[in-house]
Amino acid sequence: MTKKTFAIVGASLAGAHAAFQLRKDGFDGEILLIGDEAHLPYDRPPLSKAFLLGKAEEDALLLRQESDYGDAAITPILSTRIASIDRSARSLETTNGRSIAFDKLLICTGARARDLPFAPEAQANVHTLRSLDDAGRVRAELLPGRRIVVIGFGFIGAEVAAAAQELGCAVTLVEASEAPMQRVLGSEGASRYCGLHASRGIDIRLSTSVLQIREAPDGGKLVALSDGSELACDAVVYGIGSTPNCEFAQASGIQIANGIVVNAFCETSVEGIYAAGDVAARPTAYASGLVRLESWQNAYRQAVAAARSMLGHREAYDDIPWFWSDQYESKMQLAGLPGTHDQIVWHDQGEDDFSGTAFYFTQRRLIAVLGLNRPRDVRFGMEVVKAGGAVTPDDVRSEGFNIQKYMRR
Ligand SMILES: Cc1cc2nc3c(=O)[nH]c(=O)nc-3n(C[C@H](O)[C@H](O)[C@H](O)COP(=O)(O)OP(=O)(O)OC[C@H]3O[C@@H](n4cnc5c(N)ncnc54)[C@H](O)[C@@H]3O)c2cc1C
Repeated sequence: MTKKTFAIVGASLAGAHAAFQLRKDGFDGEILLIGDEAHLPYDRPPLSKAFLLGKAEEDALLLRQESDYGDAAITPILSTRIASIDRSARSLETTNGRSIAFDKLLICTGARARDLPFAPEAQANVHTLRSLDDAGRVRAELLPGRRIVVIGFGFIGAEVAAAAQELGCAVTLVEASEAPMQRVLGSEGASRYCGLHASRGIDIRLSTSVLQIREAPDGGKLVALSDGSELACDAVVYGIGSTPNCEFAQASGIQIANGIVVNAFCETSVEGIYAAGDVAARPTAYASGLVRLESWQNAYRQAVAAARSMLGHREAYDDIPWFWSDQYESKMQLAGLPGTHDQIVWHDQGEDDFSGTAFYFTQRRLIAVLGLNRPRDVRFGMEVVKAGGAVTPDDVRSEGFNIQKYMRR
C-alpha cells in the first residue's frame, strides 16, 4: 500500500508541533511542513521581549534543531508560499508554480500584523512586529537615546515600549482608545498598565490617533496626531492588531468567519482539511459563538489535537484559553475569556500599585482570572473556571479570600 502524504501549511508553532505529534502518534507516511518564511519554525513570544533586549538570539528561538526534522523524517519546505488549493486534485499550488499533492492537509498559517490605516509618506524606520525578520529590524532601532514612537497600546505595543525603555530609548506610546486593552483588562486593569508604563517614563497619549508619518528635515520622522500636534522621532513601531492568513483557504471554498472555521476536532468545512492555531476560529464552552485566539498555548495545544484528529482520534479540543504578557519585570497571566463579563472584582494585597488579581464574572459565575504578578491565583482560578466558576463576587470581597479554597470544593 502506498504511504499517505500529510501536508502542513505554516511552518511555525502550530505547524511544527502538529508535524512532530503526527510522528509521535505513529504516522508513517510523508510529512511536508511548508512555510513562506526562510527560517525553521521559531517561537514568537520572545520577539517582543528577550530578543529585543538582546537576551536571546535566533538559535535560542528555534522550536527544534534542524537535525530533529531529519531524525523524524519531517520535510520542511521553507521560503515557499501557498497560493491556492486544488480540492479535486488534492494538491497545493505555490506562488512559484509548483504543485504539491496531499492526502490530508492542515492549515496553520497564523495571522499577520494589521497595516496602518494610511500609507506612510515616510516608509524607512517604520516597522511592525510579527516575524523574526521584523524583530531584527525593530531591534536595530532601539539604541540608547533614540526617540521611538509606538503606535498601539496592545500587548505587543506595550512589550515593545517596555523593551525600548529598558534599552534607554525615549518612548511615546500612542493609543486611539481612551484606555488600553480595556475589553480584556477592564478600566482598572487598563489604568494599572498606564501607571506601570508612566512610572517608567513612557509618554502615553490616549484617545489619540496617528494621521500620517512624514520625513522630518533632520532625517527623523514626524508623526502627525489627531490632536493637531506632531511627534518628532527616529523610528516608529506599530502594533494595531492582526488579520488571519486565510485568503487562499477562502478562495478554495473553505468556510471562513474571521478565520478558518473548525469544529472541536479541528476539521474545516472540507473533508480531509484541518486548521489550528491563530488562523482557526472554533467553538468553545468558554464563550458564545466562534473564537479565534492569538495565544501560544492555544496554537500549541490545538495543533496537537489537530494532528491526532488527522490520525482518526475523536477527541474534542476545548482547552481553557490562557495567555501571558511580560513587561519590565511585571508578569501578567489571563485564564478564561473576558468579554461577556458583567462584573470584575479586584483582589489586592497592597504591595504596589500594579499587582493584583481580577476576577471576571458573568451572572455571578467566574469566567476568567487576570493576574498581575499573581501566577498562583491564575493557576488556581483557572481550575475554578474549568469546574464551572463556583465562586461569587461576594466571596472575592470577603475577608481572607483565597481562590485555592474554592478549587477544592
Ligand atoms: C511579537 C509577538 C509576541 C507574542 N507574545 C505572546 C505572549 O507573550 N503570550 C502568548 O500567549 N502569545 C504570544 N504571541 C502569540 C503567539 O506567538 C501566537 O499565538 C503563535 O505564534 C501562533 O502560532 P501559529 O503557528 O498559529 O501562527 P504563526 O506563528 O503566525 O505562524 C504562521 C506561519 O504561517 C506562515 N504562512 C502564512 N501564510 C502562508 C502561506 N500562504 N504559505 C506558506 N506559509 C504561510 C507565516 O509566515 C508563519 O510563518 C506573540 C506573538 C507575537 C507576534
